[in-house]
Amino acid sequence: MMTKMLDPNVVSLLKEKVKKIENGEEVIYLVGPIKLPINLMGKTVHFNWYCWLNSREATDEIEQMIAKLSEGNLAEFQQSSVLVHGDFQNADRALIRFHSICHTGDIFGSKRCDCGYQLKQSLKHIAEHGHGALFYLANHEGRGIGLFSKALAYVLQENGYDTVDANLQLGFADDARDYGAAIEVLKSLRTKPVTLITNNPRKLAALQAAGMDVEGRVPLWGDVSEYNDKYLKTKIKRSGHLNERRRALP
Ligand SMILES: [Zn+2]
Repeated sequence: MMTKMLDPNVVSLLKEKVKKIENGEEVIYLVGPIKLPINLMGKTVHFNWYCWLNSREATDEIEQMIAKLSEGNLAEFQQSSVLVHGDFQNADRALIRFHSICHTGDIFGSKRCDCGYQLKQSLKHIAEHGHGALFYLANHEGRGIGLFSKALAYVLQENGYDTVDANLQLGFADDARDYGAAIEVLKSLRTKPVTLITNNPRKLAALQAAGMDVEGRVPLWGDVSEYNDKYLKTKIKRSGHLNERRRALP
């Protein structure tokens, strides 16, 4: 394999900011912190940003990983990242959200789901609380089925299938999301317990089963409209989400 010779100064600068996390047969390269001021509803809020790369080449040191980057075709595969706020490592109580990517909701502001609202509100909760982290999980589109399959599932939903059945009809599990790498990244940033922002007790249980120390849960409902009312009701009826806002969802 042809690899480009890298400037030793570039390598040493990057090595200071890249951490190698062993994860069984695989390895996670975590880069950060990188200063990221965010425009959060008109206010500038300061976050530290980290991004990670999963690799099966567990033998590669950081120099070898960097040397292979340009051949990796990484733009074809989404990488996940995390926004950290405050003293995330040491604060007694820290809020976290594991946010599954939603191209239509987060980017376009689609009202068919509540993802865009949840993304912004989670960041706001974290900023107001003072300490926390939002994990943006890029391989979780459509509860893990991918964007193209999600578009197919939307076609089925427009023809009477609910969000759970649509995934099942396309040959997927209802929920194919994996949190393993994100939890390893979390553990490298904080070992103290965390409070999870979610409406989904199953997600909380899945994270606890994967070794995360969760001490509490904060629900997050809102932005209910005629466009996502059915979707939200399905989440409650079929996906075990708690309905703490009965008045909003009659
Ligand atoms: Zn969504």
